[in-house]
Amino acid sequence: MNRTFSIIKPDATRRNLTGSINKIIEESNLKIVGQKRLLLNKEIAEGFYAIHKDKPFFNDLIEYMTSGPVVVQILEGEDAVNKYRNIMGSTNPENAVEGTIRKKFALNIQENSVHGSDSEDNAKIEIEYFFKKEEIVG
Ligand code: ATP
Ligand code: MG
Repeated sequence: MNRTFSIIKPDATRRNLTGSINKIIEESNLKIVGQKRLLLNKEIAEGFYAIHKDKPFFNDLIEYMTSGPVVVQILEGEDAVNKYRNIMGSTNPENAVEGTIRKKFALNIQENSVHGSDSEDNAKIEIEYFFKKEEIVG
């Protein structure tokens, strides 16, 4: 059993897709053990995506991630990090496999509906960035 961190991004909350995405998550045997809806401010979004601060898409990414509500989540299950990355699909929905969240719902490479941690270490860091211990109930 392990945990990963997920964000349902503004393009998805705007289109009322939270429940549809959670259905896919739960049907893949990942359990949502922490969840809240937030409006990210610039500082929080920049801190979260600090690794991309020198990328050409960084400013657009921050503008997009602060443009509407997000749902931050902790998902628990066997091999949670890799499992969720597989369910999400490729960053660019044009390359995403049939049946993945991004293939179904993403609008383009930026507005790609979900985030998922890319390693165990980052999952831990990202979970701690958004959640207090008391907000996680397994
Ligand atoms: P995430 O970290 O959100 O789970 P990812 O790991 O698949 O996505 P990253 O390379 O970490 O992809 O990029 C972070 C986010 O930045 C992407 O999910 C997307 O919203 C945006 N992004 C990435 N590449 C581009 C690009 N070339 N043009 C515009 N936006 C991009
Ligand atoms: Mg990433």
